[in-house]
Amino acid sequence: MPRTRFDALAESRKRVYQNVTEMGKRSEFFGKNVFNEEKMLQFLTKEAFDKVKSAIFQGSKIDRKIADQVAEGMKAWALSMGATHYTHWFQPLTGSTAEKHDAFFDILSDGRAMEKFGGRQLVQQEPDASSFPSGGIRNTFEARGYTAWDPTSPAFIYKTTLCIPTIFVAYTGEALDNKAPLLRALHAVDVAATAVTQYFDKNVRKVYATLGWEQEFFLVDKALAQSRLDIVMTGRTLVGNAAAKGQQLDDHYFGVIPNRALSFMSDLEKECTKLGIPVKTRHNEVAPNQFELAPVFEEANLSVDHNLLLMDVMEVIADKHNFAVLFHEKPFAGVNGSGKHNNWSLATDTGVNLLSPGSTPMKNLQFLTFFVNTIKAVDTYEELLRSSIASASNDHRLGANEAPPSIISIFIGEQLSNVLDELEGVSKGKLSPQEKTELKLNVVGKIPEILLDNTDRNRTSPFAFTGNKFEMRGVGAKTNCAKPMTILNTIVAKQLTEFKKEVDALVDKKNLKKDEAVFNVLREYIKTSKRIRFDGDGYGMEWQEEARRRKLSNNKNTPEAVQVLTSKESIALFKEMGVMNEVELNAHQEVELETYIFYVQIEGRVLGEMVYNHIVPAAIRYQNILLENIKGLKDVYGAAHKKVAESQLNILEQIGEYIMEIKKLTDEMSAARKRANGLSTTNRKAQAYCTNVKPYFETIRERSDKLEKLISDDLWPFTKYRELLFAK
Ligand code: ADP
Ligand code: MG
Repeated sequence: MPRTRFDALAESRKRVYQNVTEMGKRSEFFGKNVFNEEKMLQFLTKEAFDKVKSAIFQGSKIDRKIADQVAEGMKAWALSMGATHYTHWFQPLTGSTAEKHDAFFDILSDGRAMEKFGGRQLVQQEPDASSFPSGGIRNTFEARGYTAWDPTSPAFIYKTTLCIPTIFVAYTGEALDNKAPLLRALHAVDVAATAVTQYFDKNVRKVYATLGWEQEFFLVDKALAQSRLDIVMTGRTLVGNAAAKGQQLDDHYFGVIPNRALSFMSDLEKECTKLGIPVKTRHNEVAPNQFELAPVFEEANLSVDHNLLLMDVMEVIADKHNFAVLFHEKPFAGVNGSGKHNNWSLATDTGVNLLSPGSTPMKNLQFLTFFVNTIKAVDTYEELLRSSIASASNDHRLGANEAPPSIISIFIGEQLSNVLDELEGVSKGKLSPQEKTELKLNVVGKIPEILLDNTDRNRTSPFAFTGNKFEMRGVGAKTNCAKPMTILNTIVAKQLTEFKKEVDALVDKKNLKKDEAVFNVLREYIKTSKRIRFDGDGYGMEWQEEARRRKLSNNKNTPEAVQVLTSKESIALFKEMGVMNEVELNAHQEVELETYIFYVQIEGRVLGEMVYNHIVPAAIRYQNILLENIKGLKDVYGAAHKKVAESQLNILEQIGEYIMEIKKLTDEMSAARKRANGLSTTNRKAQAYCTNVKPYFETIRERSDKLEKLISDDLWPFTKYRELLFAK
């Protein structure tokens, strides 16, 4: 358990950075540990290869015979790479990944040993994973869970284990994970978007959602992190007086990456390259010791897997470099928190980015169609989108320093706002030839291909168009991107389905030409979704007031934010899109609330321990030193000591007051926790933790930080902010 602050400081001062040799050309190592197409061609029969490819492309089933062949090939490859174990790698609702390793090694009935791995082991496993949160699904159905192979995300070798990406579902079919709903949402958006692309290009057979995340994180010296009870147990600091210097000088942002951090990143990137994670960008972030890593974007399911894998790998490599990596959204008060922007778009199998303006009016009409439909989807379902980024830890970040607020709005920049304004004026019904020409030449035709410079100005908009993709910025650094991606793709799928119906109706019943019908429907969408567009910076009461007038939701905490998951409208939406049924939605909501309760509960306990066992004792120790000093002064000066010891007496009094206050507040917090624990439903418990327990964290912290300022440095038990944030 935690070392003392001074031991930790001494240890951290001794660090030297490890020289990491570059691996040479990355392209040569890329995907070395991945069972990708190249290896499949080498290790699979032609038949098996074709079947896997069509499973990936069309979602067709793989039968047992083929699964056996694939397993055989995978095993041969894995053994040739030195793997000894295999695992089904899955994403339980805890938000991270889980695995249970089995050795290839087996003993046959005649006692001979061999390496075994067949289609059965590849396709389905039944981990005894009954301790993962299921939100009541298992209790309701008395069903166990099993993991099933997801052929759309290739198997890979990590350390000496062959990892097979899988979904985790109950025997009754309900998802117990984040991946199964994501795959269903991606299928829904594929179907809906492909149907819409047919208006513009009959060659499109499939539409992929693409995702490029930007992972932010803090690196803290391992010994220093371990010296803090709160970081070890909760991933963030619960107390800590702000350092004299924070991020105000902006001298860290995009600065030279410090040597130790750089060697960590080089090492990390090496591993990522082998694992097929296309990391590309690395830089310092705004806060001291904060960094960002971003890959080239990929198909969303693969990208989600890669982000989860990256977070695992980061922890391992960080440890090797004597760092702790913090993914918490707000590990330090007063400096920026960490997010994970989700850049999202839709791409066709013909290689077209549907959110990229093109060079012809037709391409631009297609662009506008997907652009406006996305805006409309977010407008209709803004509260659902908000729910997808809710967590106890992200609650601290949303609305704080430079992070987007918890109100969802869209920023599209001036140029595109002008285009939408023009389109709003399109005539109802049939368009005159002049109007069509005018539209084609001067509106649709004038959307420049590269809008990047014009659209990227507002950095805190929760949902911003950045030239050829939307960027969802409220996502927390710790969050599994599967959650926001599931919701976003579901709502866009639904919206595109509605759009298609409306356009077809105008063509069939009102005899409009296709492009006329598209213009007509888009015009109405632009009109009705105006409230979601907002170009301001989103801070302060003004926008909150304005958002209220616009009837946008403003759910500031998780218990409130996840309520919408089980509204009548949400249940209907997810059912229609085939993404989640009512049981699953209830379960997912239940898990979100339970997780929230656990987080706040643990933080409350840790804070209690810090106060009773560390902060108050330290304060008393300093009190004793002062008392001794005052007593001595009294011996020497007699009655005159009051003047000589005036400052000491004053500090003594202040410390006494803070001890009293912090003790009282902590007692009250414990009592509030007990009351919350006694409540019967998860919902009420979560609400109680949020409104009755959590507010104490701030007031307790305030007293602790005041004590930290008063008490002699050598007596303060917790590694200080300046030490945590500025150790390089
Ligand atoms: P920043 O937001 O920091 O300015 P960039 O605009 O360079 O960074 O890109 C950020 C991320 O956007 C990268 O991870 C990149 O892969 C991703 N991205 C770029 N194009 C797309 C796309 N069509 N779909 C999804 N993500 C994309
Ligand atoms: Mg970004």
